[in-house]
Amino acid sequence: MRWSQLLIPTLKENPADAEIVSHQLLLRAGLIRKLTGGLYTFLPLGLRALRKVERIIREEMDRAGAQEVLMPALQPSDIWQKSGRYELMQDVLFKVKDRSRKEWVLGPTHEEVITTLVAGEISSYRQLPKNFYQVQTKFRDEIRPRFGLMRAKEFIMKDAYSFDATDEGAQESYRKMYAAYGRIFKRCGIQAIAVEADTGVIGGKFSHEFMVPAETGENEVAYSEGGEYAANVEKATSRLTTPTPTVDTGSAPGKFPTPGIVTIEALASAPYNVAATAQLKTLIYLIEGKITLVMMRGDHQLNETKLAAATGTANFRAATSDEIFAALGARPGSLGAVGVTQHPVIADESLRNAAGMTTGANEDGFHFRDVNLDRDIKVGLWHDLRLVKAGEPCPVTGTPLKIRRAIEVGHVFKLGTKYSEPLEALYLDETGQRKPLVMGCYGIGVTRTMQAVIEQSHDKDGIIWPVSVAPFTVCITPLSVLADGPVMKLAEELYQKLNDQGIDTIIDDRDDRPGVKFKDSELVGFPLRVGIGEKSLAKGEIELKPRGGVMQPIKVESAIESILSALKTLSGI
Ligand code: ATP
Ligand code: MG
Repeated sequence: MRWSQLLIPTLKENPADAEIVSHQLLLRAGLIRKLTGGLYTFLPLGLRALRKVERIIREEMDRAGAQEVLMPALQPSDIWQKSGRYELMQDVLFKVKDRSRKEWVLGPTHEEVITTLVAGEISSYRQLPKNFYQVQTKFRDEIRPRFGLMRAKEFIMKDAYSFDATDEGAQESYRKMYAAYGRIFKRCGIQAIAVEADTGVIGGKFSHEFMVPAETGENEVAYSEGGEYAANVEKATSRLTTPTPTVDTGSAPGKFPTPGIVTIEALASAPYNVAATAQLKTLIYLIEGKITLVMMRGDHQLNETKLAAATGTANFRAATSDEIFAALGARPGSLGAVGVTQHPVIADESLRNAAGMTTGANEDGFHFRDVNLDRDIKVGLWHDLRLVKAGEPCPVTGTPLKIRRAIEVGHVFKLGTKYSEPLEALYLDETGQRKPLVMGCYGIGVTRTMQAVIEQSHDKDGIIWPVSVAPFTVCITPLSVLADGPVMKLAEELYQKLNDQGIDTIIDDRDDRPGVKFKDSELVGFPLRVGIGEKSLAKGEIELKPRGGVMQPIKVESAIESILSALKTLSGI
């Protein structure tokens, strides 16, 4: 295509409202334009890159045995009621009414629709396994749309859904998608790592997220140096650095005065000197409106995502000081669970068998010592609730965990029968028994992935597109555009030949200064630029400049071979 005819509105300056470099470059390179917060138009170059990402995804999905379908974005809200997610996801659901005031949902994801489809179409084990995918627009009323395509209100997702007769089958489907994801991100030229993840409101048994390490990522990943372990901090665990005391002092809980002492640190200092590891921290939450005591070891922090996983709801918040006083008769700093039976108590795993502990006495200015968990506190639910910190020992290797930020580009879930049961997606097994299908679901943020490529691959001059997803692979830059001149003649000839060979080539036929053209092609980031100038052409040479590499002269006679071989090198073939 011809640069002069395409809409490529490059910008010299960074747009004021773009905070991260990939968002700035999307705008500056003329790939997208904002309609309003969280909504973007793809301009010709942006769309070309997006389509290439989509093509890679489609090829790998097909190769993994998934088949493409296309479901409606507009969905009846009753299927959401049926799955129970109408309430659970209400903060992101876009709802619309039709002329008869009936309510609809703009799909944020498609588990409900696909399960309804499969319930009607699949009835026998002979039709299994099946995996359906689509590449489609999703709508989410994100609280804070930001960073361009990274967190938008409308974005493109590839979502796949597998259906198996058995759990083992579902695991195999999961494994295949996991492997396909590895190939997809590699082919897109990005380094993504698979990390253990929380299953959130999608639900299910276990899941992995595919993360692109980046300072600007919204997630934190805990990992071991050698790659033996990697998990989203929301889900990560570690070995304890210091053991929890488990020695019974032989005494019953004894109350002692602690005037003005309301922090773990204060109680750990003189004259009390109670190590933080021997203290119980009691946090009070309103979980679905009910006062609940959450117990952590004094030196540990609560991970609220784990609390959600433990309780099966995200509908909770920390109670206010007044709510706490009304429930327990004391203020934060003096709280505890000894003898509490009127409210549920949830405790972190690190407190199992804890003995000889110190905790608030539910009386301002007093604490209990000699508290044994199994004897003195009625724990209704044990769960891993602890937030992992950098430097703690890795659960696999024992080496210090590191934590870094990352962008989530994909997510695979093993769902089990969470949707097939309520939506009655059943099949008949070999013995004629009716059973719920075992499901998995697998998402890739296509638009987010495209931006993640840029976040990972750029320099001070602009984007450095990997060949696989570049809007154009080769940019031919004639330095003079005189129609009958030798420069333009050769440029047109190469342009023709490369396109004939299936190489996506753009010719910068704008009547502009060479400096402007070079700057623009660096900014947009085409993998290979072919510069044709009068001077070097007189010597029978033109110039090849790989983006991010050094300029090299090549002979005109063998230009096409040189370009093809440079592309091979750039593609890593
Ligand atoms: P996040 O935690 O970032 O909100 P999510 O867990 O809600 O993501 P999923 O429901 O698993 O995301 O969606 C699958 C993929 O869709 C994600 O891995 C991500 O790449 C992409 N995605 C999710 N929300 C958005 C959004 N608002 N804008 C762009 N892409 C998104
Ligand atoms: Mg989300």
